[in-house]
Amino acid sequence: MSGTLGPSEIADGVEALADAIFQRTGDDNVALVGIRSRGDEVAERIRELLKSKGREVDFGTLDISLYRDDYEHLHQNPKLQGSDIEFEVDGARVILVDDVLFTGRTIRAALDALSDYGRPARVELATLIDRGHREMPIQPDYVGIPLETARHDHVYVSLVKTDGEDKIEIKPA
Ligand code: 5GP
Ligand code: MG
Repeated sequence: MSGTLGPSEIADGVEALADAIFQRTGDDNVALVGIRSRGDEVAERIRELLKSKGREVDFGTLDISLYRDDYEHLHQNPKLQGSDIEFEVDGARVILVDDVLFTGRTIRAALDALSDYGRPARVELATLIDRGHREMPIQPDYVGIPLETARHDHVYVSLVKTDGEDKIEIKPA
C-alpha cells in the first residue's frame, strides 16, 4: 500500500471529526485532550471548528511518550513530558485526540496518565487516521480517515503548524 493524501483530504478528515463530535456530544461538558505531538494540532483544529459552530470546549495536551509500556524498561521513572491539563477532569467528557491510531498502546498509556488528573465522566477517542493493526482492545469513537495499511507500512504525517505542510504519505517498509 502506498500513496499520498494532501491538504483537502486532511481538512475533510478533521471536519468529519468535528462534525461527529458536535453531533454526538450535545450539551455535555466536553474537553479535548491532544496527544503530543500532532494529536495536539489535530485537537486544536477540531476546537476551532467547534468554536465556529458556537461550541466552546475545554482543552489540554498529554505527552505520554515515556509512558508507553514498551518504553518502561528503558526508563526507571516514566514521567509525563510537557503535559498541560488545567481544566477539571472530574466529571468531564474527555475526548482523547491523536493523529494516528496503530497498536493502541499509546492510548492505553494515555488513559493511565489521564487518571492521574481525576475521574472523567466518560472518555472517548478521536483519531485523524486509523491505520488498523491493533494490539490492545482499544477502538476509536471518531475517525477522520480510515487507512488500509500493511503492518509494516510507514505512515508519515505532516501537519502545517508542526511540520510546515499538510501531507500524509503511506510507504511500504
Ligand atoms: P500506537 O501506540 O497506537 O501504536 O501508536 C500511536 C502513536 O504513535 C500515535 O501517537 C502516533 O503519533 C504514533 N504512530 C503510530 N503509528 C504511526 C504511523 O504509522 N505513523 C505515524 N506518523 N505515527 C504513528
Ligand atoms: Mg501522535
